[in-house]
Amino acid sequence: KDYKSEVKPTWCPGCGDFGVLNAVYRGMAGLKLAPDQTVVVSGIGCSSRFPHFLKTFGFHSVHGRALPVAQGLKMARPDLTVLAVGGDGDYFSIGAGHLLHAALRNIDITVVVMDNEIYGLTKGQTSPTSPQGHVTKSTPYGLLASQFNPISTVLSLNVSFVARGYSARPKELAALVEQGIQHKGFSFIHVLSPCPTFYHTFDAWDAAVTPISEEHDRSDRGKAMLLAMETEKQYTGIFYEEKERPTMDQAAHQLVQQSKEFDIAAYMQRYA
Ligand code: SF4
Repeated sequence: KDYKSEVKPTWCPGCGDFGVLNAVYRGMAGLKLAPDQTVVVSGIGCSSRFPHFLKTFGFHSVHGRALPVAQGLKMARPDLTVLAVGGDGDYFSIGAGHLLHAALRNIDITVVVMDNEIYGLTKGQTSPTSPQGHVTKSTPYGLLASQFNPISTVLSLNVSFVARGYSARPKELAALVEQGIQHKGFSFIHVLSPCPTFYHTFDAWDAAVTPISEEHDRSDRGKAMLLAMETEKQYTGIFYEEKERPTMDQAAHQLVQQSKEFDIAAYMQRYA
């Protein structure tokens, strides 16, 4: 199936987000997702233009609020495939509180965060994933805060599928998107997606990106955490996966079903 919309991407030439879009097209095609049964929700930022470029349903929402919209949608319509996409500002700054609670709920949605370690849309201020000491127009003496670690954070929040991809390797990233969508529960895919206009070039990450060994035990959260804490290398692949955890959308629908079967007359007779 063709998932490309009529709208052409408006990103700068060389932006990493082109590779992510390519990977999402491939991942959807690999799963033969029905476009009218799929919704892509975003917040605000360069990467959040994403839903316009897909033939699926889409919702370009408010800064940092893609997760509340995506979770509400999945709770109301568990039959739909729901993806939430956006950038490091959306998910780790203004939307960070939503990430924490979404992680704990384990609602069956797939999150794709395009991390360029900078605010691109507003022309190059530091974001939570910018490295300490980074000099920009908003931090002329260097960034004083520590660098946010997305993978170790979501591992500590008990997220049931944690992966990282690289936009220069769309085939590998497409496989992660497919597996994330197939995973029943909250799937978090962190994507290294350079912003060559205001910060990284691909060269900077080419040297650091290292696929996780096939020997890695995906059920071992402690080992996943060690990989996540590595600073010289940027590991890609699946860090952690827990397949059998119940999801909140399933649990809520079971409760609704139980409430429909609840015999209020018998209850009143017994306890009134
Ligand atoms: Fe991509 Fe950066 Fe241009 Fe935004 S400013 S479209 S992130 S290259």
